Amino acid sequence: MVDADQTFVIVGGGLAGARAAETLRAEGFNGRVILIGDERDHPYERPPLSKGYLTGAKERDSTLVHEPAWYAANDVELHLGQAVTAIDREARTVRLGDGTVIRYDKLLLATGSEPRRLDVPGTDLTGVHHLRRLAHADRLR
Ligand SMILES: Cc1cc2nc3c(=O)[nH]c(=O)nc-3n(C[C@H](O)[C@H](O)[C@H](O)COP(=O)(O)OP(=O)(O)OC[C@H]3O[C@@H](n4cnc5c(N)ncnc54)[C@H](O)[C@@H]3O)c2cc1C
Repeated sequence: MVDADQTFVIVGGGLAGARAAETLRAEGFNGRVILIGDERDHPYERPPLSKGYLTGAKERDSTLVHEPAWYAANDVELHLGQAVTAIDREARTVRLGDGTVIRYDKLLLATGSEPRRLDVPGTDLTGVHHLRRLAHADRLR
């Protein structure tokens, strides 16, 4: 049973964010767990994007950290396709891109990294890709 008095907010829906949510539940945290990610996909592993998923040997779903039903089954609230745009540490809140404000008791930033863009002429040409997200691998495939 979830104890709504304690809220653990995780920002970043990558491998680290998803495993943090899993670990909280596995180690008995019974407050609210809220996972916020700016990508629309459920948390997935990136290594297959340059390997099995890219070659077509692996299905899209096989890249997921947990199957989508896992989150509801483990009382992990998901806000996908939403970036956290502000943190108010005094008020202990995060603000999402759509204006929603969420209060937290604990906050984990698992926001990962972004590729550095090559700043040379030609990188904006058709056929030049960056590979970080599932959507990028989809385009390359
Ligand atoms: C193509 C590719 C192949 C790789 N292959 C390997 C490999 O073979 N072996 C290996 O060890 N590692 C590999 N890696 C690296 C590995 O995937 C990363 O180390 C891992 O993804 C890091 O996980 P993370 O959860 O810390 O960060 P990330 O995967 O970067 O996830 C962070 C998430 O937070 C989101 N986010 C950022 N800011 C905000 C915000 N303000 N609000 C909401 N959400 C936000 C990001 O969009 C992202 O979805 C590979 C990476 C790539 C891209």
